[in-house]
Amino acid sequence: MSRINAIRGMNDILPEATPRWQQLENTLRGLMQRYGYSEIRLPVVEPTPLFKRAIGEVTDIVEKEMYTFEDRSGESLTLRPEGTAGCVRACLEHGLTHNQSPKLWYTGPMFRYERPQKGRYRQFHQFGVETFGQAGADMDAELILLTARLWRELGLSAVVSLEINSLGELEARAEYRRALIQYLEQFRTQLDDDSQRRLTSNPLRILDSKDPATREILVNAPKLTDYLDEESRTHFAALCQQLDACGVKYTVNPNLVRGLDYYNKTVFEWVTTALGSQGTVCAGGRYDGLVSQLGGQAVPAVGFAIGLERLVLLLEAVQPQAATAEADVFVMALGEGTAVTAMGLAEQLRDALPSARIVYNCGGGSFKSQFRKADKSGARLALIVGEAELAAGVVGLKWLRETREQLSCQLAEAASQVCLALAGNE
Ligand code: ATP
Ligand code: MG
Repeated sequence: MSRINAIRGMNDILPEATPRWQQLENTLRGLMQRYGYSEIRLPVVEPTPLFKRAIGEVTDIVEKEMYTFEDRSGESLTLRPEGTAGCVRACLEHGLTHNQSPKLWYTGPMFRYERPQKGRYRQFHQFGVETFGQAGADMDAELILLTARLWRELGLSAVVSLEINSLGELEARAEYRRALIQYLEQFRTQLDDDSQRRLTSNPLRILDSKDPATREILVNAPKLTDYLDEESRTHFAALCQQLDACGVKYTVNPNLVRGLDYYNKTVFEWVTTALGSQGTVCAGGRYDGLVSQLGGQAVPAVGFAIGLERLVLLLEAVQPQAATAEADVFVMALGEGTAVTAMGLAEQLRDALPSARIVYNCGGGSFKSQFRKADKSGARLALIVGEAELAAGVVGLKWLRETREQLSCQLAEAASQVCLALAGNE
């Protein structure tokens, strides 16, 4: 029969890769703990109108990237393309922003029908943070500070840089939008196809165009910064001041806009040049209008999302030496009637050494093949239960990574001897 493979752009994360993912996830979880943020777990599927309303009809995501289908009752559902909409929906549904200012984080798969390439997949993973109820720039600053700390902890500070911008409030942006359209109209035919299409639907996105001819035209385009409302200006200045005070370096990029409609005031991205054109590893910003747009009372909000695949690629590029999940002790049974004792010893070891990785070799096998497996497991120590030894009430302890004499110890003392051996070997 023919084989069935995974869907294009949806990756298996194989055992050899998962230690790095786990390390990353542990670092993120620890960081959230230290900053006093709480985890929220959200469904992977939501009603389609949620994303249409939150993200906006004329965005790349809603126009062409969503996995949308009808369930058996005919309701239109969508695999989440991002986490913010679902998080706001949950906050409203459970009153989480009622007289509270939650700081939330989540992680999990997101789905977008895009052309798969390095750093761009159809199922990918985000780690996201959303905070509610804080209108001040201190909240924006805290998010940037904690991401800066993340890069330090991951050893990535040297390969990522921060870009920030302010999109202003809706009215200021509308005025800027008119000015931008007026300017770009003169060059309509010289713009790339996507930008021509966006000229009326979503002209701010043109600022984000990668097309060289379009970029050239943009050099003299009106700048959003010149149209900012007073409050946004003050807010942005306060953010810059806080970042300066904490020694976080940034570039103000006046062309930085986000792909989603719901942002206002601060937007920021952490970018790298080490991953080709998929260079944004973290993107965020303020979205004070979204909660009311989704039917709640207005609550200011700011958040960000990190693309975990891109972060893993970056870690691989910077630290090719992968984290591994190596065993500490490999337990093997050699010969007739030894397996029951050996497996029991492995259990005793797990009692005695709760944080050690104890691998029991199921299925037995020859001396040679068991040693090959022991070697591959990365274990430092092999515990060998052999037929003749067992008859004499002893078991063998063999060092696998260094030339040291094999030990033999009483069966009843095997667990404590392994503890001693490993402790003495630290
Ligand atoms: P891009 O400009 O790269 O398409 P985006 O603006 O669509 O990104 P966001 O919606 O802001 O991205 O998502 C936040 C982060 O999630 C991105 O910065 C990126 O790291 C990651 N990301 C987005 N789409 C994908 C994808 N298809 N595959 C892998 N990671 C992705
Ligand atoms: Mg995109």
